[in-house]
Amino acid sequence: MSALRRMGAMSKTVLTAVAWPYANGPRHIGHVSGFGVPSDIFSRYHRMMGDRVLMISGTDEHGTPILVQADAEGSTARELADRYNRVIVEDLAGLGVSYDLFTRTTTRNHYAIAQEVFHGLHRNGYLVPRVTTGAISPSTGRTLPDRYIEGTCPICGYDGARGDQCDNCGNQLDPADLINPRSKVNGETPEFVETEHFFLDLPALASALGDWLKSRQDWRPNVLRFSLNLIDDLRPRAVTRDIDWGVPVPLEGWSDRADKKLYVWFDAVIGYLSASVEWAVRSGDPDAWREWWTNPDAESSYFMGKDNITFHSQIWPALLLGYRGLGDKGGEAGPLGELELPTEVVSSEYLTMSGSKFSTSRGTVIYVRDFLREYGPDALRYFIAVAGPENQDSDFTWEEFVRRTNFELANEWGNLVNRSVSMAHKNFGEVPTPGPLTEADQALLDVAAAAFDTVGSHLARSRFKQAIGEAMRVVTAANRYLSDMEPWKLKDDPQRQATVLHTALQVVSDANTLLTPFLPHAAQRVFETLGGTGIWAAQPEVREVVDDVPADPIGVGVPELGHAYPVITGDYTVEQAVWRRTEVVPGTPLTKPSPLFTKLDPALAETGPEWAPIVSGPVESEAPA
Ligand SMILES: [Zn+2]
Repeated sequence: MSALRRMGAMSKTVLTAVAWPYANGPRHIGHVSGFGVPSDIFSRYHRMMGDRVLMISGTDEHGTPILVQADAEGSTARELADRYNRVIVEDLAGLGVSYDLFTRTTTRNHYAIAQEVFHGLHRNGYLVPRVTTGAISPSTGRTLPDRYIEGTCPICGYDGARGDQCDNCGNQLDPADLINPRSKVNGETPEFVETEHFFLDLPALASALGDWLKSRQDWRPNVLRFSLNLIDDLRPRAVTRDIDWGVPVPLEGWSDRADKKLYVWFDAVIGYLSASVEWAVRSGDPDAWREWWTNPDAESSYFMGKDNITFHSQIWPALLLGYRGLGDKGGEAGPLGELELPTEVVSSEYLTMSGSKFSTSRGTVIYVRDFLREYGPDALRYFIAVAGPENQDSDFTWEEFVRRTNFELANEWGNLVNRSVSMAHKNFGEVPTPGPLTEADQALLDVAAAAFDTVGSHLARSRFKQAIGEAMRVVTAANRYLSDMEPWKLKDDPQRQATVLHTALQVVSDANTLLTPFLPHAAQRVFETLGGTGIWAAQPEVREVVDDVPADPIGVGVPELGHAYPVITGDYTVEQAVWRRTEVVPGTPLTKPSPLFTKLDPALAETGPEWAPIVSGPVESEAPA
């Protein structure tokens, strides 16, 4: 699992921190367009540059929605989380998302790390106890957890708001704020009584947070503006909750209470750190994570949907500042050390489905699994890169998907590979030896060579749409070159034919390198089509592990030892892909290529597939599933 490779003088240390999908169901293509695919393109590019990448994530498994759903199904929260963790792991691995470790929040290690961060904040004085109101059931006198309370949202007026959150407007709520609150168990009106919780003292961290944010001048302007605007308004935020599913509160008098746990947002955001620690332990060097976390020269990029910006640009940095003792109350860092704050926060907008939000109930949802089964990973990766919600909400339509796949992937790119290699194979049986180059040959080679810097600089700044646009310009230029040179008419001039085909094959190889972060599966095939052997672009694997990572000495009430679960990991050091021209070698044997992409039935554009037919008629907007 080593993330070290090709260490050069200029190589960087890059943490790719990817948003944690919530384990209450399979993921749809809207989810992976926001966090999964962009973060993987970014990580693959950096690995090709020789940078030391650590890419981590996992499933977020605590909190109310999983409990509610488990209750409805008659299963335990743990069983439900186990089931969907596995589904999500398989989907993300199938998509080729190259995590160094994709784990989960119900591990012993995660409990211990979340509790250590709590301890550090508490020691430094940034967690303060407060008495607030909680609900009890008047008929039984028992605590009524948030998940069992619903009512009307005080912010948007939605009638089915939950005690902790409104699914319509996305705002976090307190059950006492609900209008007409009622128990989901028996419909009675809950009684609100006093209950004690710990709050993160955000006002004491506001000044340090503001100074840090003002130093982030290279962030996307929307993220920076949004974050700075919130600073003046920071209020203490509860980090514990009346709930019986979560990480125990690691303080005497609290840790053995079944009804008090760390709030799910608090433990989930710490997952970036705990997953890095787990990766290090599993790779045999338990301190290896520090190179990405306590090294001021390391860069960290956090990838998420826009609804999560605040947790990454404010809340998580505030936790890190508090742990290090850098707020108004001072303090010092605990044993985890001087943890570094995010370098980049990369948020994407929403992917909609034929003009409306993805909706499980209305059938306007496309699950990753179904999509991969029918069309494979690269067609979806391409669509997300070229037409995804990078800067603004974007719409998935079958018509657009068919057009992109048939005309851009199959006709433009697939056909360029196919006709270049076919002609060279038919006429020479190998990569031909070129003669003198003409101006046209050199011009095309120059266009391809220059694209490494252009595409690379876009990728380094997470501008995926511009990056793939520039990469596809090389493909277009090569197709035009072949049409102009007409090598099929050069049978009487074998040396000129050899030169043209050698030039074309070199540019196919270059374009393939440029497209590797986007289309890693196809890139492996093109590499082999050009006579390459071994692994060009490495793929992640699903590995079964048991929960045996030590949670000592700080873990309290941690899950049992030995629970089995799948992780995504991979050995990416074996791949040969590098971000520069790889010379094609004359004399390399070629075989007849098979089509790189299968064209889709144009009827798909009209009807959608049988398993996700296009819904006609008016559709209402709805909160993302
Ligand atoms: Zn609302």
